[in-house]
Amino acid sequence: MSKYYPPQDQVKQFNCIHCGVFAKQHWGILTFGYHSTTKSPVTYCQCEHCRELSYWHQSRMIIPAEAPVAPPHPDTPASIVDEYQEARSIFARSPRAAVALLRLAIQKLMPELGEKGENINTDIKSLVAKGLPVQVQQAFDFCRVVGNNAVHPGEINLNDTPEMGQHLFNMINFIVEDRITRPKQIAELYAQLPEPARAAVERRDA
Ligand SMILES: [Zn+2]
Repeated sequence: MSKYYPPQDQVKQFNCIHCGVFAKQHWGILTFGYHSTTKSPVTYCQCEHCRELSYWHQSRMIIPAEAPVAPPHPDTPASIVDEYQEARSIFARSPRAAVALLRLAIQKLMPELGEKGENINTDIKSLVAKGLPVQVQQAFDFCRVVGNNAVHPGEINLNDTPEMGQHLFNMINFIVEDRITRPKQIAELYAQLPEPARAAVERRDA
């Protein structure tokens, strides 16, 4: 999955909120009045690829209401796509509510990775014991700690630091890429080896 550059106020290229393509963006200011000369506080942004518009106020995208966060990774299990999309749709209004939903998504992801899905901390420990790379462990723990702060009184105020919530979406996509996409890709390539070669590997490791 290529890197996602979220839409940002006055930035000249990013992943379009409508078409998802990394494209040039053209900015302007809405005007009003008889001769349309009075500047409004609302700016607009047009995507060079799909020509669709978004509208911004005080550096925040207000239309479409969807928050500028990465879409779910294409290999995201169906069981958690709904939570992910719901979190995306409310992120701009309440980063805390969005992160609480993402915490639920992480918990539901665990059974897909062979864990129990009852206690995120215990599941991470179990994955580490099975050889989880430290980078992925840190991504999981980032989700766990930030997620806990959304549902329990904690040290991180998500409404003050919404970017922590934004990172959580990226972390989940990173975990899906590492735990689901890569093994699948390697298995598909391996299956293309001639049968005798695969049999020889099995004999070697038996
Ligand atoms: Zn577009």
